[in-house]
Amino acid sequence: LLEARGLIKIFGKLTALNGADLTIAHNEFHGLIGPNGSGKSTLMKCIAGAETPTQGTVTFAGRDITQASPAERARAGMSLKFQITSVLPALTLYDNILLALQAQTSLLNLALSRTRGVLHDKVMAMLEQFRLVDRAHEPASALSHGQQQWLEIAMALAPEPKLLLLDEPTGGMSLEERRVTGELLQPIKARCSLVIVEHDLDFIRDICDRLTVLDQGQILQTGSVQHVQSCPRVQEVYLRRA
Ligand code: ATP
Ligand code: MG
Repeated sequence: LLEARGLIKIFGKLTALNGADLTIAHNEFHGLIGPNGSGKSTLMKCIAGAETPTQGTVTFAGRDITQASPAERARAGMSLKFQITSVLPALTLYDNILLALQAQTSLLNLALSRTRGVLHDKVMAMLEQFRLVDRAHEPASALSHGQQQWLEIAMALAPEPKLLLLDEPTGGMSLEERRVTGELLQPIKARCSLVIVEHDLDFIRDICDRLTVLDQGQILQTGSVQHVQSCPRVQEVYLRRA
């Protein structure tokens, strides 16, 4: 589904990515870990189109999208939730998801009036799936931090992307909230691929098929979670971090 080849990203004097490759299959859940500043978010942004790589290519669904805008990528079936929130706190949960869907609808040039009923059903389905249906008409600001993160994931998933990019979605969550997040993500595997930046290896082991470790802008190791974990250099980087 996705193939990133030889991605280099240079900010002034700093090389944030130094030749990173990443391949994601259909319906694959892929974890991305690495120390702070190792280039995880930069890699995600190059895939999402929020940054243009200095060098290298990104192919998505068989098409070279290296220079494509975020809107073109969304149209092709890419969706994301990054470290910066996209929830509008004064709006209800219902309206937040509706807005996310309307944005997609207009991107795809669909007639909004004709699709209103469909949008309502989708909003309710997403609220249900993310266990937020009881709170549909409360403002998003009334949610706990963890619930806001779920709302954001629901917003990213509502347009039914082929690939979902999540940058540290469990940041600041309690242990219980993390566990529930894992549960909430499992069922989407039937419909889409996932790249998730996550510091907790146990979380990744529970939900991901494969794992990539970044260190200083380079891929240290990629493969099954078990394989990557047993790699001495990975253990070294993780010890250095601790
Ligand atoms: P964290 O775990 O803290 O989120 P990360 O692995 O996501 O870290 P990146 O955010 O990709 O790391 O950053 C990699 C390096 O690139 C860092 O040294 C960072 O300061 C730098 N960097 C990232 N974005 C920019 C930017 N827009 N301008 C300049 N430097 C940047
Ligand atoms: Mg980051």
